[in-house]
Amino acid sequence: MDEKNVPIRTYQVCNVLEPNQNNWLRTDWIPRSGAQRVYVEVKFTLRDCNSLPGVTGTCKETFNLYYHESNEDRESYIKESSFIKVDTVAADESFTQVDVGDRIMKLNTEVRDVKVTTRKGFYLAFQDVGACIALVSVRVFYKTCPLTIRNLATFPDTVTGADTSSLVEVRGSCVNQSEEREEPKMYCGADGEWLVPIGGCLCNPGYQEKSGTCKACSVGFYKAKSSDPGCSKCPPHSHSVRDGATVCDCHSGFFRADSDPPSMACTQPPSAPQQLISVVNETSVVLEWPETGLKTTRVVVSELRAHTHYTFIVHAHNGVSQASGAGAAQSVSVTLTTNQAAPSPVSFIQATDVTRHSLSLAWQQPDRPNGVILEYEVKFYEKDQRERSYRIMRTFSRSVDVTGLNPLTVYVFHVRARTAAGYGEFSAPFEFSTNSDPFPLIGEGVNSAFLLLSISGVGILLLISAAVFIISRRRSKYSKTKQDSEEEKHLNPGVKIYVDPFTYEDPDQAIHEFAKEIDVSSIHIERVIGMGEFGEVCSGRLRVQGKREIYVAIKSLKAGYSDKQRRDFLSEASIMGQFDHPNIIRLEGVVTRCKPLMIITEYMENGSLDAFLRKHDGQFTVIQLVGMLRGIASGMKYLSDMSYVHRDLAARNILVNSNLVCKVSDFGLSRVLEDDPEAAYTTRIPIRWTAPEAIAYRKFTTASDVWSYGIVMWEVVSYGERPYWDMNNQDVIKAMEEGYRLPAPMDCPVVLHQLMLDCWERERAERPTFSQILNMLDKLIRNPGTLRRTGGDRPTATMLESGVGSEVCVSVVPQVCMPEWSMCVWLQSIGLERYRDTLAAAGYTSLDSLLALTHQ
Ligand code: AMP
Repeated sequence: MDEKNVPIRTYQVCNVLEPNQNNWLRTDWIPRSGAQRVYVEVKFTLRDCNSLPGVTGTCKETFNLYYHESNEDRESYIKESSFIKVDTVAADESFTQVDVGDRIMKLNTEVRDVKVTTRKGFYLAFQDVGACIALVSVRVFYKTCPLTIRNLATFPDTVTGADTSSLVEVRGSCVNQSEEREEPKMYCGADGEWLVPIGGCLCNPGYQEKSGTCKACSVGFYKAKSSDPGCSKCPPHSHSVRDGATVCDCHSGFFRADSDPPSMACTQPPSAPQQLISVVNETSVVLEWPETGLKTTRVVVSELRAHTHYTFIVHAHNGVSQASGAGAAQSVSVTLTTNQAAPSPVSFIQATDVTRHSLSLAWQQPDRPNGVILEYEVKFYEKDQRERSYRIMRTFSRSVDVTGLNPLTVYVFHVRARTAAGYGEFSAPFEFSTNSDPFPLIGEGVNSAFLLLSISGVGILLLISAAVFIISRRRSKYSKTKQDSEEEKHLNPGVKIYVDPFTYEDPDQAIHEFAKEIDVSSIHIERVIGMGEFGEVCSGRLRVQGKREIYVAIKSLKAGYSDKQRRDFLSEASIMGQFDHPNIIRLEGVVTRCKPLMIITEYMENGSLDAFLRKHDGQFTVIQLVGMLRGIASGMKYLSDMSYVHRDLAARNILVNSNLVCKVSDFGLSRVLEDDPEAAYTTRIPIRWTAPEAIAYRKFTTASDVWSYGIVMWEVVSYGERPYWDMNNQDVIKAMEEGYRLPAPMDCPVVLHQLMLDCWERERAERPTFSQILNMLDKLIRNPGTLRRTGGDRPTATMLESGVGSEVCVSVVPQVCMPEWSMCVWLQSIGLERYRDTLAAAGYTSLDSLLALTHQ
């Protein structure tokens, strides 16, 4: 009978009085049907050994579950040894009790999972070793991520992967009437939930999204491009007559030009411009017509011929004039005469006769006389006199005889013309010299020797002034640099700033400035504890005279190194040696005077944080985890205060000592990235830990360290799980770009996940500072109650998308803590509940009383 007194069939065994029981029960062959991990749900009842008199030593309260993979569906005999053990199954505190002669049955349900990948099917077996047990039912199942549509792509029903952490990558196919925007992809998690959708599809032109499908645009609507957000109403003067229109046709008499987008209203060609106004200004005409709603309605036509008849025709065109065939019909014209204007300058003067006292000059009419030339004006002066005193002569012809000049003197001449509109500009200067000869000579314009001299003179002058300019620029730059550095000094008085050892020309100078040289005889190496980039890492002891012997870690540089390797190896010590903080690994010193070169640091008994957490999965209280995170944040705040950017903050680079104190280490990467411009795009960058702006354009800042810190938080709370599991780097980058963030790890307090999400803000200015993170963690430690709310056990796809978990209140207060729960909870949260009774015995039963506790 079951709990409700309904008869059931069970397999039973109860040989609790006889020792050495070994009873087996086996299932038929179970085909695995493509499953890789199957779940076995067993329902059973178990008698409490205490309720059976005289069975001590022989009665057991467990049974064993086994499996055997096989292709054979009818194996009649299978050896015991071919079965592999899945687990020992115990009752979940629900024993069948004997209560005043009546049996009270308690049905237990236990689920175990097992990887079955090698054969077509398997057998299950139950081994009894002396329990009083009744097997009521066995249900065997596997999990799938159900068929779903995401971002308009269909993802089929997918069997989950073989391991509890494996993700199955699934490609989706676009739904009907849609096309790929970017290859749609999603991961099927071990729990049958879809994770991290990437890419997706867009509805074809003429279709829009409606509850995961693409529906045709209805009549009167259209969608031109697949990337348009949805169907839009037809623009004015257009219509669509069928469903699924990609463009709306123009009403008759309306048109759309080839270059008009489908979203533009259909239009008509314009009427002719009306009331054309023309204004003549010498040889320019301004035409104006009233606004027509089209582009500009004013045009200036310059450099027309003066005193000339012109006809101007203004055509009105719009985008549809061509389509409508209206052509040039819509136009208006005006005819007018330009005015006279001043003539353009005379371009060339020639000396026709030269004597001791006279020069005869002739010139061409200006290129644009702009009317009737009324006269010419000739201005001239002795060259030495400049223009201080000049003479003017006027003439109607295009030549003049200038007399009364001094012999052997250079004269400068300018000529200008005049029309009814006035004088034009003077011509350029022309120089002619009188001679000593009574006979005339032909002039040649500018004296060529003089020209040569002036050009070379100007050249030399230019050279000198260029030199003076460059020197003065140099001077000012130098003084600015000096000033800058002085200003910098004033900016941060008293704050110690990290000095990049690579700024030292001589690396040995840097190392001896920041690190102490240790005598190799005071080091005692004991064993190898790890492998670093440059060689083995050992543990050992260091005894410095006058000091206590301490445990140390010793990194050495393996023989056969290059200069660069030596420099890189020692740079870590030069960096580390500048720091002094309880959460930064402490440098004891270096050995550089003999080989091998060594870096000696404090010894961290528990090694790197990621491996340490994996080894102790689930063993710490939330407060202990937050305590570790607080230490890391404190170390990082110190580094950021010193303007040091770590660039490789990850749990693997945090070391843990025997007191669970976490210290930041590994100061090697910051340089490697800068040295090698390619590195950022190759394997050196720790993609999963790095902020998007640092991946995309190497913008490494304290804010990118904060991003990495968020990842470290996730690693810590998930006990060393790999961020983004086995997704590849490209998918991680893509997922980040699309706004996805890691979900809260199992049992993660909501406040901690929110802090992680804050560290992963896309805008780096929005991320918290290390100082804010530290304050936040301190607050949480002071109020452990705030850490009680977790986001439920398992992340769901929706959580991933929104980045926030659905909030489920989970009480972590066990019954035993009542009624003085606050004291008890506090002790439990810091992992010291074992002292509850000792403290209570000494009279400390409340947190208030505990405040009075002194060190003594
Ligand atoms: P690293 O080259 O700094 O990454 O060191 C390689 C490995 O050596 C680390 O992952 C640690 O397991 C170990 N290790 C390095 N430094 C220490 C230390 N100070 N104390 C204990 N183990 C260390």
